[in-house]
Amino acid sequence: MLEDYLLSEKLPLFWCAGCGNGVVLQSILREIDRRGWTKQETVIATGIGCWGKADDYVTTNSFHGTHGRALAFSTGIKLANPSLHVVTLMGDGDGITIGGNHLIHAARRNLGVTAIMVNNLNYGMTGGQYSGTTPKHSLTKTSVYGHIENGFDVCAVVKAAGANFVARANTLDVIELNRLIGMALDHHGFSFVEVISPCPTHFGRNNKMASPAKLLQWIKDRCIPAARAKDMSEDELNGKFVTGVLADRSREDYSTAYQRIIDRLQKEASE
Ligand code: SF4
Repeated sequence: MLEDYLLSEKLPLFWCAGCGNGVVLQSILREIDRRGWTKQETVIATGIGCWGKADDYVTTNSFHGTHGRALAFSTGIKLANPSLHVVTLMGDGDGITIGGNHLIHAARRNLGVTAIMVNNLNYGMTGGQYSGTTPKHSLTKTSVYGHIENGFDVCAVVKAAGANFVARANTLDVIELNRLIGMALDHHGFSFVEVISPCPTHFGRNNKMASPAKLLQWIKDRCIPAARAKDMSEDELNGKFVTGVLADRSREDYSTAYQRIIDRLQKEASE
């Protein structure tokens, strides 16, 4: 049961009303439960930020690391014990801004972990500064006249770096969110899901969306399913979030390649 994975004494959640983090956490725990993974064989690793608080609420093994380093710690955990299911939770600050280098190298190595990046389009915990995914022209605490940079297409970066599975979802369509997180958990090699998620307290307020519902509508208007996006031009897709499965391949994962060398060396030593 989902409740078995939640530390009920820690409730209510720390997150603001209208925040998408709780939606994503329940989806991850539900899909872990559906797979029957025990708490002992599951590790949830986090970094810093609002989403990085998620490990506070789970009964599985957990590891709370420094900002941007969730994937570095996950690499060590997975290599030390490849039989563990390692699920890495990162925000957009943690995942692609401060931690961007770890993300591209985990994807390049095809490390056997699942990374779920909640993209709320700004640094929520520190007060709403722009991050590497903040859309151009957005208003944040550090771009009060409009953001002049382009935000990363994180899924395109991770796909180009070599991840086996890449998908994008949002917190409005929970059935699709569950499906994509489930596919990522089942996939061998590096699997990555970016979830476009509302931060009404900062991104919403700073961009003149007075209620969480308005921000949800803003997200909904910008999410385009991959099947529809393939018939749209680059200009039409500018500022949009293409959702669904964006990469699905079966390259050998890092732990398998690493184990093969260990096996070979042990065999040579015993001959
Ligand atoms: S500041 Fe934003 S991201 Fe952080 S808990 Fe509040 S709504 Fe969620």
